[in-house]
Amino acid sequence: PIGATDNLSIARAARLWPIEEIAHQLGLPGEAVEPYGRGIAKLDLSAMKALNGHPRGRYVVVTSMTPTPPGEGKTTTAIGLVQGLQRLGHTATVALRQPSMGPTLGLKGGATGGGYSQVLPMERINLHLTGDLHAVGAAHNLLSAMVDNHLHHRLSPELDPREIYWQRVIDLNDRALRHIVLGLGGRGDGVARQGSFEITAASEVMAVLALADSLADLRQRLGRLVVGLDREGEAVTAEQIGAAGAMTVLLKEALKPNLLQTLEHAPALIHAGPFGNIAHGNSSIIADYIGLSTSDFLITEAGFGADMGAERFFNIKCRASGLTPDAAVVVVTVRALKYHSGRHAVVAGQPLPASLLAEHPEEIYEGGANLLKQIDNVRAHGLNPVVAINAFPGDHPSEYAAIRDLAASVSVRAEVSTHVRDGGGGSQALAEAVAEAAEGEKDFRFLYSDELPLASKIERIATRIYGAEGVDFAPQAHERLNVWQRQGYGSLPVCIAKTHLSLSSDPTRLGAPAGWRLPVREVRLSAGAGFVYALAGDIRTMPGFSTSPAATRIDIDESGETVNLY
Ligand code: ADP
Ligand code: MG
Repeated sequence: PIGATDNLSIARAARLWPIEEIAHQLGLPGEAVEPYGRGIAKLDLSAMKALNGHPRGRYVVVTSMTPTPPGEGKTTTAIGLVQGLQRLGHTATVALRQPSMGPTLGLKGGATGGGYSQVLPMERINLHLTGDLHAVGAAHNLLSAMVDNHLHHRLSPELDPREIYWQRVIDLNDRALRHIVLGLGGRGDGVARQGSFEITAASEVMAVLALADSLADLRQRLGRLVVGLDREGEAVTAEQIGAAGAMTVLLKEALKPNLLQTLEHAPALIHAGPFGNIAHGNSSIIADYIGLSTSDFLITEAGFGADMGAERFFNIKCRASGLTPDAAVVVVTVRALKYHSGRHAVVAGQPLPASLLAEHPEEIYEGGANLLKQIDNVRAHGLNPVVAINAFPGDHPSEYAAIRDLAASVSVRAEVSTHVRDGGGGSQALAEAVAEAAEGEKDFRFLYSDELPLASKIERIATRIYGAEGVDFAPQAHERLNVWQRQGYGSLPVCIAKTHLSLSSDPTRLGAPAGWRLPVREVRLSAGAGFVYALAGDIRTMPGFSTSPAATRIDIDESGETVNLY
C-alpha cells in the first residue's frame, strides 16, 4: 500500500526534466518560458498569441461523487489520466488549482496527487510556488486598505461605513479573524467599524484571476469589483476607489500560468486556487487555453463533487471562456460508496473507520444513489461521464463489480484505475474510455439561460442538481436579488457556497437526500468575477484549524529536509 511517506519518498527519488524541455514538447516558443527555479516556469501571455489558430485538443473535466472528508482522488486521477493518455501515444496536459496553505497546514494536506501520479516539486507547489496566492492576497488587501483610507479621508463617492462588503483575506485557517473591529484608536487611526477576514481561496480576486482571459480583461474585471454602497445606496466599485490599476499591476505575474511536470514528465499547469465549496472551484481559463492549444487532451479538475466544482465549471467557467467540454470523468472510490450507505461514522480529522475496509459489495449499492445522482448531474449538461474507480489497497473485486454494475445500469462506462500504484501504466483503460467518450456524441448545454432571473437560477441548481424541493431565501437575500435584478446584474450566473460533504446543505445527510429545502441566508454580488454568490446553510468563508492541525507535525529534520508535508 502507498501512504503519505511513500508519496514523499517517490517524489524525492524522482528526476525532473528541465522545464524548458517540457515547454518545448508543447511547442511553446522559448521566449514564452520564464524559469522560476528547478522544474518550474511561468508562461508569458505572449504564448497565447503565438498559439492563436492552433487546433484545439479535447477538453476533459474531472469531477467526483460526493467525497468523504479526505477526498476521493480527483487530483490523483487527473494526473494519472494524462500519464495514461501519454502512454497511449497522445499528448496530454493536466491543469490544476494551486493548493491553499489553509488545508495544507490544516486538515487535508497538499494537493499534488499521490504515489506514481504526482506533480512535482511537491513542497514548492504546496507552499508559495511562484507567489501567486500571496499576490492575490496583496491585491485584495490593497483594495481593503484603500477602502478604509477612502472612508478616513471622506473621499468621493462617500462610502457608507455600515455598507462595506469588501473584507480582508489571508491564506490561512484563522477563525479568530472571522469578526474583527477595525479603526480602533484615535482620530488619526481610521474609521471604527466591524470587519472580517476570509481565506484567500475565497477572495473574489482569486475568482477573477481564474476567469480572466487576458491582462486587459483582468483590469476590467477588477474595476468592476463592488466594495460597498455610498450614502445614496449606490454601488461603489474598485474603479471608483482608484485601486483597480494598481491591483492589476500586483497581479501581472500571477496571471501567467505555472508550468510543472508529473512524475512521468507530462506537462502540468498549476494556476489559481478558488475553493470548491465556498468559491467556484476551478483553475484558470488561461491555463486551459494554453493546454488545449498545445495538447491532444487538456484534463482539468473541478473541486469536490459534480454538484459543486463541475456545476460551476459548466455554468460559470465555460460561460466565461466560451470553451465547451468534450468529456467528464466522475471519480469514485469503494470507501466513499460504502460511506454513503450511511453505515459508517466518519469523523473529520480522523482516519476512516476500519469497518469501511471489510468486503461488503451490498453497501456499494446502498451508497450508489449518490453516484447515480452525480452522473445525472453531469448529464444535465449534455455529457455522458466515464466513471473512474480510483483503486485503493484493500478494495475487493466484488466491490468493483458492484460499481461497474451500478454504472452499467445507467449506460455509463466504469474503469478501475491503479495510477497511484502503477502510474500511467495503471490508467490506460480509463484513458481509452475517456478518449472514446471525447470523440463520441455530446450535446453540451448550460443548466440555465442568462435570462432566467437570479432567484430562479439558484432554485434551478438547488432542485435539479442538489435534489432539493425548493429554496428558502432569508428575506434580506431575496430583497438584494431583486435590487440587483433591477440594476442590470440579472444575467449573471450564480455560485452557491455550501458544504461539499453532502448533496444537501447538511453535511451529515449522505447518499442522495430527498425531502429537504436549501436555506440561502446571504447573497453577495461578485460583479468582477461575474456571478452572484449565495451562501447556503452553515458554511464559512474562513475555516479554522482542528485540535491537531498538520502544522503541529510539519518540521525539518537534521538534514534540513521538510517532514510531514504532503
Ligand atoms: P481530491 O482531489 O479528490 O480531493 P486527491 O487526489 O487530492 O483527492 O486525493 C486525496 C488524498 O488521498 C491524497 O492524500 C492522495 O494522496 C490520497 N489518494 C488518492 N488516491 C489514492 C489511492 N488510490 N491510494 C492511496 N492514496 C490515495
Ligand atoms: Mg483535488
